[in-house]
Amino acid sequence: MKAKRNRFGIGPEISLFTLGTMRAIESIEQMYLVAKEACLAGINHIETAPAYGPAEFFLGESLKKLKADGIKPEGNWIITSKILPEIGISDGKTQIKGILKRLGIQKIHNLAIHGLNLPKHLDWALKGEGAKLLKWAKNEELVGQVGFTSHGSLNLIEEAINSRQFQFCSLHLHLLDQSRMPLALKALTEGMGVMAISPADKGGHLHLPSTTLIEDCYPILPLELAYRFLLGQGISTLTLGAHKIEDFSLAKKLINSNDPLKGIEKRAIENMFNRMKSRLGETFCGQCKKCLPCPEEIPIPEILRLRNLAIGLDLKTFAKERYNLIGQAGHWWEKKNGSACIKCGDCLPRCPYSLDIPSLLSNTNEELQGNPVRRLWR
Ligand code: SF4
Ligand code: SF4
Repeated sequence: MKAKRNRFGIGPEISLFTLGTMRAIESIEQMYLVAKEACLAGINHIETAPAYGPAEFFLGESLKKLKADGIKPEGNWIITSKILPEIGISDGKTQIKGILKRLGIQKIHNLAIHGLNLPKHLDWALKGEGAKLLKWAKNEELVGQVGFTSHGSLNLIEEAINSRQFQFCSLHLHLLDQSRMPLALKALTEGMGVMAISPADKGGHLHLPSTTLIEDCYPILPLELAYRFLLGQGISTLTLGAHKIEDFSLAKKLINSNDPLKGIEKRAIENMFNRMKSRLGETFCGQCKKCLPCPEEIPIPEILRLRNLAIGLDLKTFAKERYNLIGQAGHWWEKKNGSACIKCGDCLPRCPYSLDIPSLLSNTNEELQGNPVRRLWR
């Protein structure tokens, strides 16, 4: 059966799943096997980046070998790569030419600003050296369309979408973190392509779900439910950071499954959230963000979201990993954890759930603090 393709901005149509290359960087052979399996699974879109170590070079070599072996998706591969913001125009040109050389291609279909996380990054892309660089790359026909990935604030993402200067975006969109979904749907309405970053791993380590989560999502597996939650709402494509060929089994099953959510799926999602809420009882954080701003700039909703997941769904390993990245990843993640609370009480009257926020932050800090883990890019 022919695999479905979705519109992706003004570029070529792409598969519902995208091969992410950041986990196939052990060898060219590993990248080749993973790309081959992606093709067999119906995938035609690959995303990579200079920041993923040898990924681009390994991918370029693999694509050559796949071509020699007569293996390619219908219409050929569509490639997305990225450049970091704030790079100067001369270095940027070198960077883009380097991407093309490593990948062995004439044109990057989709070039994303990798980590448009701060207002100065958006300024760079819209008005600064970045704007000149992107114009040059398009005029030279080295790049098909331009987009961005962002871990930034909702306001910043909205501003970037509203600028109408980007044709696609890659965002953290997750069943267990739906805060950016309205922006993703807005971007789709504006005609942009939307790629969901790592719904499995960053979405809650859903490839290794807790028994509690499996039971709560029954009869659908948590990762399948998370994929369907996104595809059923029209998200253009979901990244799959494959390490081995077995990682594609669910993508093979869902490669054409972007019809609206079915009743059984809606009920499974509702049941899962209801059970999570009942375990948390009066300490459930509704993620409304009304407690902000905190004078100490503590990301209260995000910290309490991790607490929701740790206690409500027994996703403690994931919550600990994310919590211990706070303050460790520059502009890619939150800067302050619960220990920064000075108990000023400013947030208390703003919380419609009447949560004792300082106590919950202190409790979360005790439960989740531990050794920081190594951070993969995104
Ligand atoms: S009580 Fe703590 S979390 Fe609340 S506003 Fe004050 S410092 Fe921020
Ligand atoms: S106001 Fe209360 S419920 Fe809403 S995000 Fe903040 S702590 Fe959570």
